Amino acid sequence: MSARQNELKLQNCWDSARANQMDEPHKLLYRSNLLGADKRITNYGGGNTSAKVQCADPLTGEDTTVLWVKGSGGDVGTMKLDGFSTLYQDKLEALKKLYRGVEYEDEMVAYLPHCTFNLNSRAASIDTPLHAYVPQTHVDHMHPDAVIAIAAAENSQALTQEIYGDDIGWLPWKRPGYELGLWLHQFCVENPNAQGVVLGGHGLFTWADTAEACYDITLNTINKAIIWFDENTQDKSFFGGAACNPLTAEQRTQVAAALMPEIRGYCSSTENKVGHFDDSDGVLEFVCSNNMPALAALGTSCPDHFLRTKIRPLILEFDPAKRDENGALDTSALIEKLPQLLEDYRNDYSAYYQRCKHDDSPAMRDPNPVVFLMPGVGMFSFAKDKATARISAEFYTNAINVMRNASAVSTYCGLPEQEAFDIEYWLLEEAKLQRMPKPKSLAGQVALVTGGAGGIGTAISERLLQEGACVVLCDVDKAGLDATTQLLQQQYGNDNVVSTPMDVTDEAQVQAAYKKATTAFGGVSILVSNAGIASAAPIEDTTLALWNRNMDILSTGYFLVAKEAFLLFKRQSMGGSCVFIASKNALAASPGAAAYCTAKAAEVHLARCLALEGAPMGVRVNVVNPDAVLKGSKIWSGEWLNERAKAYGKDTDELEVHYRERSLLKRSVYPEDVAEATYFLVSDASSKSTGNIINVDAGNVQSFTR
Ligand code: NAD
Repeated sequence: MSARQNELKLQNCWDSARANQMDEPHKLLYRSNLLGADKRITNYGGGNTSAKVQCADPLTGEDTTVLWVKGSGGDVGTMKLDGFSTLYQDKLEALKKLYRGVEYEDEMVAYLPHCTFNLNSRAASIDTPLHAYVPQTHVDHMHPDAVIAIAAAENSQALTQEIYGDDIGWLPWKRPGYELGLWLHQFCVENPNAQGVVLGGHGLFTWADTAEACYDITLNTINKAIIWFDENTQDKSFFGGAACNPLTAEQRTQVAAALMPEIRGYCSSTENKVGHFDDSDGVLEFVCSNNMPALAALGTSCPDHFLRTKIRPLILEFDPAKRDENGALDTSALIEKLPQLLEDYRNDYSAYYQRCKHDDSPAMRDPNPVVFLMPGVGMFSFAKDKATARISAEFYTNAINVMRNASAVSTYCGLPEQEAFDIEYWLLEEAKLQRMPKPKSLAGQVALVTGGAGGIGTAISERLLQEGACVVLCDVDKAGLDATTQLLQQQYGNDNVVSTPMDVTDEAQVQAAYKKATTAFGGVSILVSNAGIASAAPIEDTTLALWNRNMDILSTGYFLVAKEAFLLFKRQSMGGSCVFIASKNALAASPGAAAYCTAKAAEVHLARCLALEGAPMGVRVNVVNPDAVLKGSKIWSGEWLNERAKAYGKDTDELEVHYRERSLLKRSVYPEDVAEATYFLVSDASSKSTGNIINVDAGNVQSFTR
C-alpha cells in the first residue's frame, strides 16, 4: 500500500484495554461513538449500530436476549447510552407471525413499542428489524461515501463482487423497513460466511460476533473501497473536467456577500431561513466542472442525503470569468434572475409532488431549494437554523463524494423519482417530523449586537440565543469579545455565535461586520444597537473631544450601524427589527452629563425617524431605556462609577442601593431586565409596535413618555 493510500485509509482507533473494562452496552456505545466520529464512515445522524445482549428480565430475573439498537433520531457519533432503544429479541422474532406482506410493512412499526424491554422510553427506529433479523450478535449500518459510491453505480452488483469477492454481498435498493429486515435475514442464511452486504442506492451493513470484530470488519470494508477507488481513478478526470476556474477566496466571499441576502429573502417565503456558505476544494471541483449540471439534475442517492438536501439543488448559472464594464465581477444579472429561478424551482417541486403523491401522502412541505450551486464560487445552503443549513451542506458534500467516485468508474445513478418521493413523504418520516419540538420564537433570525462584549450586550445576546436566533457579536474590545464569544459558544453552540471586532464609529469596519454576518448566516434581520460609553462633566469642563466622543459613538455610531442594517433589510425583503439601547437620560435631563444625555437623546430621535422610514418595508425600530444597571456593566467600573458616587455623596458600593431607593418601584435593574424588553421588541409579540420606547428603569417620573 502506498504512503498516500495509508493516509487515505481510516485508522483503527479501537483500544482493547479500555473496551475490555466495559459491559456489552457500553462497548456498543464505544463502537458507535468511534464510528460516528469520522464523517467518511457515516454522515451526521446517519446509520445505526446494535448488539444482542443477555440481560436479566426485570420481571422474572432470568436472562433474556435484548436487542440494543440506536433509537429513532440521534447520531451514532455523539449519542449516549440513553440513545439506544432496547427490545426483547424473542418478541421481535414473534412479529414475523403478524407480518401480512410488503404492502403492509409500515404497520409493523406500531408493534415495536410492544417489544420494549425495561420500559425504555427511547422510540425504536424504522431500521430496528434490519438489525434484529441479522443472526450475528453485533451489527453496524453505516453510510460511508466510498461504499455508497459503489451502491450508486450503475453496475453496483458487479463492482461489489469485484472489490469484495464473497466477503460482502449485495442487495438491490429497497426502502428500509420490515421487508428489508427479512431480506437481510434471508441473505445471512444463504451466505453464512459473508461479513456484510452493500445495499443498492443506500449504504453498508456489516456484522460479527464480537464488538471489536464488528468494528474491524466495518473499517476494513470501507478501507477496501477507499483504496480500490484510489487505485482505479488515478488517471481519471472527475466530473468531465473543469468548465471554469474558481474565483480567488476573496472574490468568492465577495460574491457570497453580494448574493446571500437576496437568496435568503426569496427562499424564506414559508419560514425564516439561515444560510451557510461552503467553498471547500471538493465543492469547488464539482461546481466548476463540465458535468455538474447533469449530475446535480440526477439527484442524490442515499435517502439520508436527499432528505437533508431535497432531491435536487438549484444551479445558479454564472460565468466567473465575466466582468462588467468597470472590470468588476458581474452578479447583477444573476440577482435580477433570482426571483424567477426560485419560482421555477418551487413550481418544479410542486409538479414533482403532484406527479408522485399518493392518496394518503402528507401535505406538500416547503417547496424552496435547500442547496444552491454556483460555478466558480461554491455552495450555499439555507434551512430553518444554522446547524441544519451546515449539516445540509455536509450531506451534499457526501453526495458530491459519491458522484465523484461512482461517475469516475461507472455511471452514477440517483434514486428513481418515485422511490425518492416515497421516502420523502413516507408517513413514518412524517410522524418523525411531527414529533420534533416546535421551532423557537426567533428560529431563522440573525441578530447583530453591537457592544456585545459588555454587560447588557451579553445578556441580550444570551436571551436572543435562548429563543433560537443566531447572533453576531460586535465590539471594539477585542479581548472582551473573544471571552464573551467563547462563553456563549460553549453554551449555545459554535454554529449560532460568531463575532467580529468592530468600532461603530468607523464606516468601513461597520460594513465589514455586516459582510461577515452575511457570509456566516446569509444576512441580518435584527439589529441591537447597544455599544456605548458614559461620561460626566459640567459644561465648562466638557472638552470638544469629550463631546465628539459621545456624539461619535452614541449618535454617529448608531446611525452607521442602522444605515447598513437598512441597506441589508431592503435587499432581503423580509422585514426586520432594530432596537436601540438608549438611556433614561435620553428623556430625563441630568446635571453634569450634557454630552452623554444629548447623544442619547439623538439616538431616540434617530430611532423615531427610522421607524417612519422602515415601516413601508416591514422594518420596526424601537428603543429600550435602561437606568442604573450596575451588575456586569463595564461603564460602572471606572471613572463613571467614582464620579457618580461623588455626585451623590456616596461610597461606590452604596450606589446600587441609592439607585434602587431612588426608583419608584424600589427595585434594582439588571442586564437581564433590559434583555427581556429587547427580546419583546424584536419578537412577534410586539409585531404591531414601532417608534416606541420601553423604560427599564424601575420607574422614574422624569422619563415617563408623553
Ligand atoms: P458596558 O461598558 O458593559 O458595555 C458597552 C460595550 O460597548 C463595551 O463592551 C464597549 O467595549 C463597547 N463599545 C464602546 N465603544 C464602542 C465602539 N466605538 N464600538 C463598538 N463597541 C463599543 O456597558 P453597558 O452597561 O452594558 O451599556 C450598554 C448600553 O446601555 C450603552 O449604550 C449604555 O449607554 C446603555 N445604558 C447603560 C446603563 C447602565 O446603567 N449600565 C444605563 C443607561 C444606558
